[in-house]
Amino acid sequence: MKPNPKVDSALHVLKGAVQKVLGAELTTSVFAEGNKGRLTVEYGEKPTQEQMEEIEKLVNQIIEENLSIEMFEMDREEAEKEFGTIIYDKFPVPSYVKRLTITRIKDWNINCCLGPHVKTTGEIGRIKILKWRVRQSRKELDISFVIE
Ligand SMILES: [Zn+2]
Repeated sequence: MKPNPKVDSALHVLKGAVQKVLGAELTTSVFAEGNKGRLTVEYGEKPTQEQMEEIEKLVNQIIEENLSIEMFEMDREEAEKEFGTIIYDKFPVPSYVKRLTITRIKDWNINCCLGPHVKTTGEIGRIKILKWRVRQSRKELDISFVIE
């Protein structure tokens, strides 16, 4: 199945919200199929219902703001100096890669990602969080969502 640019873009918006509400900065994996997606972050506790509602609210707020999703290339060294390791997920970019493609939603999320993405957050459509699950032993939180 072809990757859905809306779902990949939604993952970036969701990462920003999860970082803001839970302080969970490290993505351990992502999954996308059709109009559904799942984000897994390193997080050892069970979030409250209120926190998850806040995350969903923030995601849809950023979508409504119709922010641009920028993509640009940068030398790896320069990107690390300017943005820090926040650009990386837990699965590392191999050391031989010297030039990175950075995806940025200004003041919200910055991540090393090749996409594909839509051009603005407004193109994503509304997202609904379907369920979440904490795996205490692995200190991971899964958040599943659908684009409506
Ligand atoms: Zn992406």
